[in-house]
Amino acid sequence: MTERQINVDSAEIAKFSALAHKWWDKTSEFKPLHEINPLRLDYIDEFAGIHGKSFLDVGCGGGILSEGLAERGATVTGIDLAEKSLKVAKMHQMESGLAVEYRCIPVEELAESAPESFDVVTCMEMLEHVPEPASVIAACMRLAKPGGWVFFSTLNRNAKAYLLAVIGAEYVLNMLPRGTHDYAKFIKPSELGRMARLSGLDTVDVRGMHYNPLTQIYSLGGDTDVNYLMACRKPL
Ligand code: SAH
Repeated sequence: MTERQINVDSAEIAKFSALAHKWWDKTSEFKPLHEINPLRLDYIDEFAGIHGKSFLDVGCGGGILSEGLAERGATVTGIDLAEKSLKVAKMHQMESGLAVEYRCIPVEELAESAPESFDVVTCMEMLEHVPEPASVIAACMRLAKPGGWVFFSTLNRNAKAYLLAVIGAEYVLNMLPRGTHDYAKFIKPSELGRMARLSGLDTVDVRGMHYNPLTQIYSLGGDTDVNYLMACRKPL
Protein backbone atom coordinates (compact mmCIF):
# COMPACT_ATOMS: atom_id res chain seq x y z
CA MET A 1 0.00 0.00 0.00
CA THR A 2 1.50 3.36 -0.93
CA GLU A 3 1.51 6.42 1.31
CA ARG A 4 -1.30 7.96 -0.78
CA GLN A 5 -3.70 5.10 -0.33
CA ILE A 6 -3.47 4.88 3.45
CA ASN A 7 -6.77 5.75 5.10
CA VAL A 8 -5.33 8.29 7.52
CA ASP A 9 -5.56 12.00 8.24
CA SER A 10 -2.01 13.12 8.98
CA ALA A 11 -3.27 16.14 10.95
CA GLU A 12 -5.03 13.72 13.32
CA ILE A 13 -1.86 11.68 13.78
CA ALA A 14 0.10 14.89 14.45
CA LYS A 15 -2.49 15.91 17.08
CA PHE A 16 -2.14 12.64 18.97
CA SER A 17 1.65 12.59 18.56
CA ALA A 18 1.93 16.02 20.17
CA LEU A 19 0.13 14.70 23.25
CA ALA A 20 1.77 11.25 23.25
CA HIS A 21 3.90 11.80 26.37
CA LYS A 22 0.68 12.29 28.35
CA TRP A 23 -1.07 9.00 27.53
CA TRP A 24 -0.55 7.58 31.03
CA ASP A 25 -1.04 10.83 32.93
CA LYS A 26 -4.48 10.26 34.39
CA THR A 27 -5.00 13.98 35.00
CA SER A 28 -4.21 14.93 31.39
CA GLU A 29 -6.28 15.25 28.23
CA PHE A 30 -6.50 11.46 28.31
CA LYS A 31 -8.26 11.44 31.68
CA PRO A 32 -11.66 10.62 30.08
CA LEU A 33 -10.20 7.52 28.38
CA HIS A 34 -8.76 6.30 31.71
CA GLU A 35 -12.12 6.87 33.38
CA ILE A 36 -14.20 5.05 30.79
CA ASN A 37 -11.76 2.15 30.55
CA PRO A 38 -13.28 -0.12 33.25
CA LEU A 39 -16.75 0.48 31.77
CA ARG A 40 -15.77 -0.51 28.25
CA LEU A 41 -13.75 -3.49 29.50
CA ASP A 42 -16.85 -4.71 31.36
CA TYR A 43 -18.93 -4.16 28.23
CA ILE A 44 -16.53 -6.22 26.08
CA ASP A 45 -16.35 -8.90 28.77
CA GLU A 46 -20.14 -9.14 28.92
CA PHE A 47 -20.41 -10.19 25.27
CA ALA A 48 -17.10 -11.70 24.18
CA GLY A 49 -15.38 -12.74 27.40
CA ILE A 50 -11.86 -11.33 27.68
CA HIS A 51 -9.85 -14.00 29.51
CA GLY A 52 -7.97 -16.33 27.18
CA LYS A 53 -9.04 -14.58 23.98
CA SER A 54 -6.86 -13.05 21.25
CA PHE A 55 -7.53 -9.34 20.70
CA LEU A 56 -6.61 -6.76 18.10
CA ASP A 57 -6.92 -3.19 19.38
CA VAL A 58 -7.15 -0.81 16.41
CA GLY A 59 -6.03 2.79 17.07
CA CYS A 60 -4.58 1.71 20.40
CA GLY A 61 -2.72 4.96 21.13
CA GLY A 62 -0.68 4.65 24.32
CA GLY A 63 -2.31 1.32 25.14
CA ILE A 64 -4.94 2.24 27.74
CA LEU A 65 -7.46 -0.32 26.44
CA SER A 66 -4.80 -2.79 25.22
CA GLU A 67 -3.21 -3.04 28.67
CA GLY A 68 -6.60 -3.30 30.32
CA LEU A 69 -7.43 -6.27 28.11
CA ALA A 70 -4.05 -7.90 28.82
CA GLU A 71 -4.59 -7.36 32.54
CA ARG A 72 -7.83 -9.33 32.25
CA GLY A 73 -6.03 -12.26 30.63
CA ALA A 74 -6.19 -11.59 26.89
CA THR A 75 -3.41 -11.91 24.30
CA VAL A 76 -3.32 -8.47 22.72
CA THR A 77 -1.93 -6.85 19.57
CA GLY A 78 -2.28 -3.07 19.42
CA ILE A 79 -1.95 -1.08 16.18
CA ASP A 80 -1.82 2.65 15.54
CA LEU A 81 -0.24 4.97 12.99
CA ALA A 82 1.25 7.40 15.53
CA GLU A 83 4.79 6.09 16.13
CA LYS A 84 5.21 8.32 19.17
CA SER A 85 2.18 6.85 20.88
CA LEU A 86 3.41 3.33 20.20
CA LYS A 87 6.78 4.22 21.75
CA VAL A 88 5.00 5.44 24.86
CA ALA A 89 2.89 2.26 24.89
CA LYS A 90 6.01 0.08 24.67
CA MET A 91 7.72 2.01 27.47
CA HIS A 92 4.68 1.72 29.68
CA GLN A 93 4.35 -2.02 29.33
CA MET A 94 7.91 -2.37 30.60
CA GLU A 95 6.70 -0.72 33.80
CA SER A 96 3.37 -2.50 34.02
CA GLY A 97 4.72 -5.89 32.99
CA LEU A 98 1.67 -6.45 30.76
CA ALA A 99 2.64 -7.98 27.42
CA VAL A 100 1.06 -6.35 24.37
CA GLU A 101 2.49 -6.57 20.85
CA TYR A 102 2.46 -3.09 19.36
CA ARG A 103 2.72 -2.50 15.62
CA CYS A 104 2.63 0.55 13.37
CA ILE A 105 0.55 -0.71 10.45
CA PRO A 106 -2.68 0.41 8.73
CA VAL A 107 -5.59 -1.81 9.70
CA GLU A 108 -6.42 -2.39 6.03
CA GLU A 109 -2.89 -3.72 5.42
CA LEU A 110 -3.05 -6.07 8.41
CA ALA A 111 -6.42 -7.33 7.16
CA GLU A 112 -4.77 -8.33 3.87
CA SER A 113 -1.86 -10.13 5.47
CA ALA A 114 -3.58 -11.71 8.48
CA PRO A 115 -7.34 -12.12 7.90
CA GLU A 116 -9.45 -14.03 10.44
CA SER A 117 -6.68 -13.96 13.06
CA PHE A 118 -8.39 -12.56 16.17
CA ASP A 119 -11.20 -13.68 18.45
CA VAL A 120 -12.08 -10.04 19.13
CA VAL A 121 -11.29 -6.74 17.40
CA THR A 122 -11.74 -3.46 19.26
CA CYS A 123 -11.78 -0.03 17.64
CA MET A 124 -12.55 2.58 20.26
CA GLU A 125 -12.78 6.37 19.91
CA MET A 126 -10.96 6.12 16.59
CA LEU A 127 -13.49 6.07 13.73
CA GLU A 128 -14.25 9.79 14.20
CA HIS A 129 -10.60 10.55 13.39
CA VAL A 130 -10.26 8.72 10.04
CA PRO A 131 -11.22 9.86 6.50
CA GLU A 132 -13.05 6.63 5.62
CA PRO A 133 -14.52 4.86 8.64
CA ALA A 134 -16.25 2.27 6.41
CA SER A 135 -12.86 1.03 5.23
CA VAL A 136 -11.68 0.60 8.86
CA ILE A 137 -14.90 -1.22 9.75
CA ALA A 138 -14.54 -3.59 6.79
CA ALA A 139 -10.91 -4.31 7.77
CA CYS A 140 -11.93 -5.01 11.39
CA MET A 141 -14.54 -7.45 10.09
CA ARG A 142 -11.93 -9.25 7.96
CA LEU A 143 -9.50 -9.50 10.89
CA ALA A 144 -12.02 -11.20 13.19
CA LYS A 145 -12.35 -14.98 13.13
CA PRO A 146 -15.74 -16.36 12.00
CA GLY A 147 -18.01 -16.16 15.04
CA GLY A 148 -15.71 -13.52 16.54
CA TRP A 149 -16.63 -10.11 17.95
CA VAL A 150 -15.94 -6.57 16.81
CA PHE A 151 -16.50 -3.60 19.14
CA PHE A 152 -16.68 0.04 18.12
CA SER A 153 -17.16 3.23 20.08
CA THR A 154 -17.53 6.73 18.73
CA LEU A 155 -19.53 9.96 19.02
CA ASN A 156 -23.08 10.41 17.79
CA ARG A 157 -23.85 13.34 15.46
CA ASN A 158 -26.67 15.64 16.60
CA ALA A 159 -27.09 19.00 18.33
CA LYS A 160 -26.72 17.50 21.83
CA ALA A 161 -23.49 15.72 20.89
CA TYR A 162 -22.14 18.94 19.42
CA LEU A 163 -23.02 20.88 22.57
CA LEU A 164 -21.65 18.32 25.02
CA ALA A 165 -18.73 16.71 23.18
CA VAL A 166 -17.40 19.80 21.40
CA ILE A 167 -18.61 22.94 23.18
CA GLY A 168 -18.88 21.38 26.65
CA ALA A 169 -15.75 19.22 26.71
CA GLU A 170 -13.46 21.48 24.68
CA TYR A 171 -14.67 25.00 25.50
CA VAL A 172 -16.54 24.98 28.81
CA LEU A 173 -15.00 22.21 30.90
CA ASN A 174 -11.63 22.27 29.11
CA MET A 175 -11.45 18.49 29.39
CA LEU A 176 -10.05 18.16 25.87
CA PRO A 177 -7.89 20.46 23.74
CA ARG A 178 -9.87 22.62 21.32
CA GLY A 179 -10.04 20.96 17.92
CA THR A 180 -9.85 17.41 19.33
CA HIS A 181 -13.12 16.49 17.66
CA ASP A 182 -14.50 17.47 14.28
CA TYR A 183 -18.30 17.41 14.49
CA ALA A 184 -18.67 16.54 10.81
CA LYS A 185 -16.90 13.23 11.44
CA PHE A 186 -19.23 12.09 14.20
CA ILE A 187 -21.23 8.98 13.30
CA LYS A 188 -24.86 8.21 14.09
CA PRO A 189 -25.54 4.74 15.50
CA SER A 190 -27.74 4.06 12.44
CA GLU A 191 -24.82 4.93 10.15
CA LEU A 192 -22.36 2.81 12.11
CA GLY A 193 -24.86 -0.05 12.12
CA ARG A 194 -25.29 0.28 8.37
CA MET A 195 -21.54 0.30 7.70
CA ALA A 196 -21.12 -2.71 9.97
CA ARG A 197 -23.92 -4.56 8.20
CA LEU A 198 -22.53 -3.73 4.75
CA SER A 199 -19.19 -5.18 5.84
CA GLY A 200 -20.97 -8.39 6.86
CA LEU A 201 -21.20 -7.89 10.63
CA ASP A 202 -24.35 -8.38 12.71
CA THR A 203 -25.06 -5.67 15.28
CA VAL A 204 -25.81 -7.33 18.60
CA ASP A 205 -26.02 -4.35 20.96
CA VAL A 206 -25.73 -0.56 21.12
CA ARG A 207 -25.08 1.05 24.50
CA GLY A 208 -24.81 4.69 25.48
CA MET A 209 -21.97 6.10 27.54
CA HIS A 210 -23.02 9.04 29.63
CA TYR A 211 -20.94 11.63 31.48
CA ASN A 212 -22.40 13.54 34.39
CA PRO A 213 -20.39 16.78 34.68
CA LEU A 214 -21.70 17.45 38.20
CA THR A 215 -20.65 14.13 39.74
CA GLN A 216 -17.90 13.67 37.11
CA ILE A 217 -18.98 10.07 36.79
CA TYR A 218 -19.38 8.03 33.61
CA SER A 219 -22.00 5.33 33.25
CA LEU A 220 -23.34 2.99 30.58
CA GLY A 221 -27.02 2.97 29.70
CA GLY A 222 -29.66 3.48 27.07
CA ASP A 223 -28.81 7.10 26.21
CA THR A 224 -26.79 6.91 22.99
CA ASP A 225 -27.15 10.63 22.22
CA VAL A 226 -23.47 11.48 22.69
CA ASN A 227 -20.93 8.67 23.29
CA TYR A 228 -21.87 5.10 22.50
CA LEU A 229 -20.49 1.59 22.10
CA MET A 230 -21.54 -1.05 19.61
CA ALA A 231 -21.04 -4.82 19.85
CA CYS A 232 -21.00 -6.66 16.53
CA ARG A 233 -20.54 -10.29 15.65
CA LYS A 234 -19.05 -11.88 12.57
CA PRO A 235 -21.26 -14.73 11.35
CA LEU A 236 -19.83 -18.24 11.61
N1 SAH B 1 -8.39 3.55 21.18
C1 SAH B 1 -7.66 4.28 22.20
C2 SAH B 1 -7.19 5.65 21.72
C3 SAH B 1 -8.26 6.57 21.17
S1 SAH B 1 -7.61 8.12 20.59
C4 SAH B 1 -8.55 4.40 23.42
O1 SAH B 1 -9.77 4.46 23.26
O2 SAH B 1 -8.03 4.46 24.53
C5 SAH B 1 -7.62 7.84 18.81
C6 SAH B 1 -6.42 7.03 18.34
O3 SAH B 1 -6.62 6.71 16.97
C7 SAH B 1 -5.07 7.75 18.42
O4 SAH B 1 -4.14 6.94 19.07
C8 SAH B 1 -4.69 7.99 16.96
O5 SAH B 1 -3.29 7.98 16.73
C9 SAH B 1 -5.37 6.81 16.31
N2 SAH B 1 -5.61 6.96 14.88
C10 SAH B 1 -6.12 8.02 14.20
N3 SAH B 1 -6.19 7.74 12.89
C11 SAH B 1 -5.73 6.46 12.74
C12 SAH B 1 -5.58 5.59 11.62
N4 SAH B 1 -5.94 5.98 10.40
N5 SAH B 1 -5.09 4.34 11.84
C13 SAH B 1 -4.76 3.95 13.08
N6 SAH B 1 -4.89 4.72 14.17
C14 SAH B 1 -5.36 5.96 14.00
